[in-house]
Amino acid sequence: MSVYDVKSKYAEEFINHEEIMESLDYGKRNSKNDKLIREILEKARKAKGLSHREAFVLLSCELDDFNEEIFKLAKELKLKFYGNRIVLFAPLYLSNYCVNGCLYCPYHAKNKTIPRRKLNQDEIRKEVIALQDMGHKRLALETGEDPINNPIDYVLESIKTIYSIKHKNGSIRRVNVNIAATTIENYKKLLDAEIGTYILFQETYHKKNYETLHPSGPKHDYNYHTEAMDRAMEAGINDVGCGVLFGLQNYEYEFVGLLMHAEHLEAKFNCGPHTISVPRIQPADDIDPDEFDNSLSDRMFEKIIACLRIAVPYTGMIISTRESKEVREKVLDLGISQISGGSKTTVGGYSKDIGDVSGSNQFELSDNRTLDDVVNWLIGMDYIPSFCTACYREGRVGEKFMSIVKDHGIGQMCQPNALLTLDEYLTDYASDDTRNIGQILIKKEIDKIENPNLRENAKEWLKEIKDGKRDIHV
Ligand code: SF4
Ligand code: SF4
Repeated sequence: MSVYDVKSKYAEEFINHEEIMESLDYGKRNSKNDKLIREILEKARKAKGLSHREAFVLLSCELDDFNEEIFKLAKELKLKFYGNRIVLFAPLYLSNYCVNGCLYCPYHAKNKTIPRRKLNQDEIRKEVIALQDMGHKRLALETGEDPINNPIDYVLESIKTIYSIKHKNGSIRRVNVNIAATTIENYKKLLDAEIGTYILFQETYHKKNYETLHPSGPKHDYNYHTEAMDRAMEAGINDVGCGVLFGLQNYEYEFVGLLMHAEHLEAKFNCGPHTISVPRIQPADDIDPDEFDNSLSDRMFEKIIACLRIAVPYTGMIISTRESKEVREKVLDLGISQISGGSKTTVGGYSKDIGDVSGSNQFELSDNRTLDDVVNWLIGMDYIPSFCTACYREGRVGEKFMSIVKDHGIGQMCQPNALLTLDEYLTDYASDDTRNIGQILIKKEIDKIENPNLRENAKEWLKEIKDGKRDIHV
């Protein structure tokens, strides 16, 4: 039996099974303990975060009044740290070749019905132009694990291609990368290629289940996978993105494991994850989500998001188009700071010039709207859709970024950057209706910039955008 050690380099010590089980027991025993729940909420109000045990007590809380308070506090913290801004991005699938055997993913090596595709550099160029023409500035690269078809050099070359394309006023300014757990040496190469966030979902923190769900391929090695973020950070990648695939294991176990992982990175590297993603399993070719008997109600999904927001207030939270418009609408104000829009989960799904790519998608989307529809929808709810990528390009990453967020908040920077990048989008890509409502929103929001100098500068910069200047940011 291993012992819990938050700073350990061993997965089984920092994600310690016994500690998770004890935390689950502690939370359930205290689910109606009003004194303890009140104390935890008091602590949470200071916006310095909660431990995994404290957060799980809130998730387990069975007292209606306190549950209302939990949702209210999540909304307050969301507003305090992120205002009404929502950052937009799109996934870009490079290849669905994969040597792993993940039972929940149609790209698993034994699936012989799915068409296998890998984009060449010319096709990547076409995809990026299509994404730029939609208005995207921030991508998340996705590829299966396959050392022959998708070696690290292919990923590096693809990143270089993506950053090099300047089509009309378009440019991709931040490439986040979601590839399989790899070596420190390869993480250094990704760092040199100027990636934004390195994203790797844990899928499940439950080791035994993990091994059953990943019966073959390098991903079978739970420890190597779970220790990947440590290697990435040791290599110098400051921004890492964690996540689990809700539905694989019981959500309570995953919730505690996820927070223990965040605590581990914070304790060891002085910087927790930059983002946490909250995907739920969806139907796909050869995959039936009903096979996984851990489905999660929408209400509990919302509570998980609220409790994560309270537990790690300074960590961005991402929700994708796996979720429907209705679900996404409900969780935006509970803690989500980034969403994808106009997404395709198909290899070659964006460009009309690539030919028939049907059938190669990783999962079915629940939100199939265009990016313009999503921007329009956000504006209609008084959110500011943001295409900002400024921090990483200004070196505000990792520990430095976290200390700015914790000490001063990031609103001072995010607000003008959100408005400037929204104005770029409206000018270059939006439909007439979106442009009209967006300009009204910008006029209203620009006066909310607290610093008077910054406010006046932002007004000048908006004029410069009108005159054709792009990529103005603080
Ligand atoms: Fe491959 Fe990733 Fe799908 Fe697993 S989840 S089969 S590693 S693409
Ligand atoms: Fe993100 Fe930084 Fe832009 Fe704010 S200013 S939206 S934190 S990149």
